Amino acid sequence: MTPLRRIGFIGIGNMGWPMAANLLKAGFEVAVSDARPGRAEHFRDEIGGRAARDAADAATGGDAVITMLPTSAEVAAVIGAIKPALAAGALVIEMSSGAPGVTRALAEELGESGIALIDCPVSGGVARARSGELALLAGGAAADLARAAPVLDAMGSSVHHCGGVGAGQAMKALNNLVSAGGFLIGIEALLIGQKFGLDPALMVDVLNASTGMNNSTEKKFKQFVLSRRFDAGFGLDLMTKDLSIALEIGRSGATPTPFAALCRELWAAAGAMLGPGQDHTALARFSEQIAGMTLGVSKKTAGD
Ligand code: NAD
Repeated sequence: MTPLRRIGFIGIGNMGWPMAANLLKAGFEVAVSDARPGRAEHFRDEIGGRAARDAADAATGGDAVITMLPTSAEVAAVIGAIKPALAAGALVIEMSSGAPGVTRALAEELGESGIALIDCPVSGGVARARSGELALLAGGAAADLARAAPVLDAMGSSVHHCGGVGAGQAMKALNNLVSAGGFLIGIEALLIGQKFGLDPALMVDVLNASTGMNNSTEKKFKQFVLSRRFDAGFGLDLMTKDLSIALEIGRSGATPTPFAALCRELWAAAGAMLGPGQDHTALARFSEQIAGMTLGVSKKTAGD
């Protein structure tokens, strides 16, 4: 098998843009494509590479094609469109946080034409996509993963082989279930504490020095919630999609999912209340609305 040198990269949004930029930096030939008009040309002008006319053009002549799209629905549409352009022996690396069942079906379909697919969703957000330090959660045959290794190493700092095709995406959805639950309960604790008289910023410091610490307390609450910036770069709708995938995995295995179900419903309700286009950290605004208060630096301290 020839090494992967020419990469078609489809979906240069919040995550795909810095990931494709890191591939270029590592010396790969990259052709980018995105459904948003002008986005690929913008990337070429600012970062480099080739701006493909469309997804099929990006895939043409590629040793590998990377998909980094919102959901499996877009991935299935794109795979359908690029299939005739894929050379036998090409490798598809599906890096979206997708639905394992859909991805497995796509892998089977491509396999009939001699094209392998691995799933390799990522964790770490925009900051780690920029620094090339994403955690990569891979599913697929060991030989295909070994072939993809130089490409993956340009975008991430650790590759975790979770199992067969779809296993990376299952792991990703479950990771985000834990992350989304941590965010939700953390904000609820800040609201309870503020009402009691605790200062929310002080609470974040104490949580981070204590056993209540999690990724949200460390990297999101001060940076994106208390600052009122709400611009972490990960959509609330995408988080709700991940929670739906996690629930579906639970249900398909008949595993009871009481907290996962509640968690998904709360995130979905936040999306409905806040409207489209929200960053996931804006979930705090939903929690604030149902609590009837806004998180901020409290003038009053407990015991005053
Ligand atoms: P995004 O919405 O910023 O980017 C998606 C891009 O895909 C957009 O530029 C959009 O125009 C493009 N697109 C949509 N449909 C298309 C199509 N049919 N053909 C070509 N391009 C198309 O989303 P994102 O935040 O970059 O997330 C991408 C994936 O990565 C999602 O599955 C998400 O859940 C996952 N993810 C996101 C983050 C994050 O922090 N943003 C972290 C880990 C994983």
